Amino acid sequence: MPLKVLIVGAGICGPAMALLLRRTDPENSVTVVERYPGIRHNGLQIDLRSWGVPLMKRLGLMDVVREKVVHEAGFAFVDGKGKRHGVFGTSGTDSGAQSFTSEFEIMRGDLAQLLYEASLKDPQTGVMDPQPTPEQIDAEAENKPGVRYRFGITPKTLVQDDDGVDVTFSDGTERRYDLVIGADGQWSRTRRMLFGEEAGLAMLKRLNMYTAYYTIPQQPSDGEHALYYHAGAGRGAALRAAHPPRTQVYLVVRTASDEVRRGVERQSAAAQMDTFGKVFAGCGWQTERFLDGMRKATDFYADSIGQVKAPHVARGRVALLGDAGYCAAPITGMGTTVSLIGAWTLAGELARHKGDVKTALEAYDVNVRPYVDEAQKLPPGSPWMMTLQSSWGIRLLHFIASLVTFFKIDKILFAIVPENKGGLALPEYPEMGIPAAP
Ligand SMILES: Cc1cc2nc3c(=O)[nH]c(=O)nc-3n(C[C@H](O)[C@H](O)[C@H](O)COP(=O)(O)OP(=O)(O)OC[C@H]3O[C@@H](n4cnc5c(N)ncnc54)[C@H](O)[C@@H]3O)c2cc1C
Repeated sequence: MPLKVLIVGAGICGPAMALLLRRTDPENSVTVVERYPGIRHNGLQIDLRSWGVPLMKRLGLMDVVREKVVHEAGFAFVDGKGKRHGVFGTSGTDSGAQSFTSEFEIMRGDLAQLLYEASLKDPQTGVMDPQPTPEQIDAEAENKPGVRYRFGITPKTLVQDDDGVDVTFSDGTERRYDLVIGADGQWSRTRRMLFGEEAGLAMLKRLNMYTAYYTIPQQPSDGEHALYYHAGAGRGAALRAAHPPRTQVYLVVRTASDEVRRGVERQSAAAQMDTFGKVFAGCGWQTERFLDGMRKATDFYADSIGQVKAPHVARGRVALLGDAGYCAAPITGMGTTVSLIGAWTLAGELARHKGDVKTALEAYDVNVRPYVDEAQKLPPGSPWMMTLQSSWGIRLLHFIASLVTFFKIDKILFAIVPENKGGLALPEYPEMGIPAAP
């Protein structure tokens, strides 16, 4: 039985979910609402790892991903004079296995755009649907099969009963759906509406870390390796230059300071820039260049780093997907992958339990959990290793990194790390009708 579905959030897993709902039943009617006026292209390199690689192959999107992959040579620590300490390579396995630089690094904006476009393609013809104007997406249009996006709006209220969910939107419109999926990021309003404002917010477990992501004009000396500088006092700055003509900049700080938290969380970009400007003032290496570039950047994005630990990711006819339900935190490198696995699992359960939305959501809640648990494991040494406090700690890390790479211990470690995290494989749902990739 085809479903009428609302997806909140057109980031990464929102469009992926729309695509899967369309592939599994072309009669499904899917509306995606996004509070921004269009697809957001900010964000820097994100990783497709582990189960994310077979999933994208399965969806036939790997060729498009490969065209967009950022070919980074590896990763090195640098000191204040720019001297490298330990140079780590990529895993080079074509499988999604772990290393500092994943084999499938892609700019977040490129991934968001390609998933958005794929969701709008007719599964039979591969031709993209013309997108209707906002006025054309009236209540009647939302009953029709296919995928459509409504930008610049957000749900205000959700009221569910046994048969559906009534939603009122910020533009005053009201609609009823069989199912609502919150794919609206780590601060998810859907989660807060589902569990209550305070409880929903408290599910975001902060790591007292804050990151700014943006790009600056490239210089030839930036090279092809990601370079990471420990500035002490919990601060780190990195550049990644493998995606010309811009160099990507990351500023990271780990601090219990309330002032920093208040200056970053849910603030305007200008207020966040002020906060990072203060925290990184005069801290060496290329940080003056980075701060100067930050003020001119048009793609600046910053947020606090945390993990979402929700007791359940579905209630009745409302489900949470990706960061909204189980943000893994960028430091795991698994956030994008687990959000895609979530979409695959939810679409699989909906296909399996045809029309029985509540049973499908209960099964999703249980079956996505092992992937979430695995993805949320923090890598050894994190988060403190990237945000060391003292100069002797930094020197010790540089010494160990140099030894590890000199004796090629990193290569041995990459070789023995399992490709599918936790021994888990992509879950199989023959009911979806999406065959294994050749
Ligand atoms: C602009 C941006 C840049 C990012 N950059 C990086 C990065 O450089 N590195 C990294 O590791 N991770 C980054 N992330 C996070 C990363 O995209 C996710 O951790 C991961 O890919 C899972 O994606 P998601 O779809 O669950 O959430 P997200 O990618 O966060 O997408 C959520 C979407 O929901 C929308 N939204 C939020 N609230 C509402 C609402 N109330 N109504 C409607 N829509 C709403 C947001 O605007 C966004 O488009 C970024 C996220 C965003 C939004």
